[in-house]
This record gives sequence, C-alpha cells and structure tokens, in this order.
Amino acid sequence: MNGIFKFRENQPVVWFHRDVLKSNMWCLYCGEYFGDNVSISSNKEHLFAREFVPKSKLSGSCFNFIFRSCVSCNTEKSSYERHVSSLTLINTPERSKDKDVNRIATHKASNDYHPNHPGKLVINTNERHTITLGESINFGLVSPPQLNDEYVKKLSLFQVQGMFSLLTSKDPQHSDSLRLLPANHFWYFGAFPEQDWGNDHLVEISKRVSNWPCHCNINTASGFIKVIMRKSSESGGGWFWALEWNKYLRVVGGISLPNEPQDVFINLPNLRWKSLGLQGGASTRYRQEQPLHESQDILFEGNAVPG
Ligand SMILES: [Zn+2]
Repeated sequence: MNGIFKFRENQPVVWFHRDVLKSNMWCLYCGEYFGDNVSISSNKEHLFAREFVPKSKLSGSCFNFIFRSCVSCNTEKSSYERHVSSLTLINTPERSKDKDVNRIATHKASNDYHPNHPGKLVINTNERHTITLGESINFGLVSPPQLNDEYVKKLSLFQVQGMFSLLTSKDPQHSDSLRLLPANHFWYFGAFPEQDWGNDHLVEISKRVSNWPCHCNINTASGFIKVIMRKSSESGGGWFWALEWNKYLRVVGGISLPNEPQDVFINLPNLRWKSLGLQGGASTRYRQEQPLHESQDILFEGNAVPG
C-alpha cells in the first residue's frame, strides 16, 4: 500500500495548486472541506517548514510535502514549529560542530518567548532545581531550556497526519481516495533528547518494530529532519512512527484504534529510576540519561517497501 500516490523520498511532493479545486480539498489536519462553495479559507502548507531547520538546510530539492491546509491549522502549526525549532536548535549538539548552526540557534533563542515562562526569552530559561539530601545538604542543578510537551505532541501529530495521508491516499482530490488520520487514532509515546537516545524504552521499542515493513524512511534537510513509518504485518495491525528534529529530539508513537496502545509500547523494561526520598513533601526520583552508541542505532534503519 506504500506509494499508492507515487512519490520519491528525495524530492518534494506537491499536492498544492493555486486553484483550490486542483489541490487536496480537505485539510489533512482537521478534515475541514475548503473546496467549492464554502467560506473556509486554505493556503499553502509545507509539512516541514523551511525555518524549522537551520537556514538553507531544507532547500527546494529536498523531500518535503506541500499541500493545502485550512488557515487555522496552518497558523496553529506555525506556533508549535517556532517553539520546537528554537528549543531543539539551542540544545542540538550540532552547535559545537557548525558555527552557522550555532549562530542561527542563538539568534532564534534570543528572539523567541518561551510559552512556559511568560515574558522570558528561550535563551534565558535555564531551569534551576534544588535537591535536599538529609538535613543539611542542598545542591542545585541547572538544566538547559526545556520543551513544552504539549507543543511537541501537537507538532508530531500534524507531521504524522501529513505523512499518513501521503502514504495511504490514492488521489488527493477525491473524498473516497484521500485518507485522513483522525487525531484519536494517533498515539504519542514520548520525546527523548539526544543524550538519552539509548534509554531502555527506546532501545526496546526500536528492536520490537525493526522487522515491521517500512513504508517510508525519510532523511531530509541534511539529516535535520527524519521520519520513519512502519506498519505491522499482522492483519489489523497498527503503525509505528518516529521523528527526529534538528539532530536533538526523537519522538515516537503509533497509530491504532482509540485508547488501544499497541503491544510494542507496553510491558517495557524499567527505566532504572532511583529515589531521592521526599523533597518538599513530594517523592523525588532521578535517572541517568543513557546515550546511544552509533553502532546500536537502528531506529531509522529500514528500506521502504516498493509501491
Ligand atoms: Zn484544518
């Protein structure tokens, strides 16, 4: 079923046409119809915004998916993109390898307000925590700017909806052959920073889905965006998806019936949390982040089955 609508993973796919009647006429995000005789406005949408990655990485010849969405979804998505882009770039290890990335990341974080900290720029949102051990020992921890979880979840939903429609639709212009992913079939497992890609949950999930047929494996914008989508070969089996943003954040989840997480996400090994006892009346626990060795990195390995 992959490639019913033919596309290549190394060039842009365009469903957008200036004439709305020659584009997809339903919003891939909310399902709204904006074709003939309706007043819903729609505009051009890039599934992966060029400004999301460091400038010039997502050139016109890279994979992207360009279609129509309703203006309201398009605007909503831009606010998530702006935040997730600033936060992933300010934290990316690429900053120490590429001075352009460093300059762009610093500029963005110095010009974007953090939704969790009203009135504060991202660059000024290092978080401080105080931990008390026993009666007299306090120590402080400072963590780098943190992502807003809700924004991460919403942006991954939008990107997975776009990829799902692209992979499963026969003809974007007809309601009976355009497929949309309803939000309640979207399952979000979690998001993990680069220094924790080797944690036991991600490693185990990557192994469990590694033999599922791969329906797309996209690496675009010089590796600053990755998307893999796999579908279980069991009848009625669900999908697995993983995204990687700005070489810093990996987000994984599935597509399944509402409120029915797939087996791959349950009965996972314990994450080796350690307890620090009570802190200000609440029990506190911590765990060490687990980096991933390159040779064990299999999450984005797989050849898409030919359409
Ligand atoms: Zn919409």
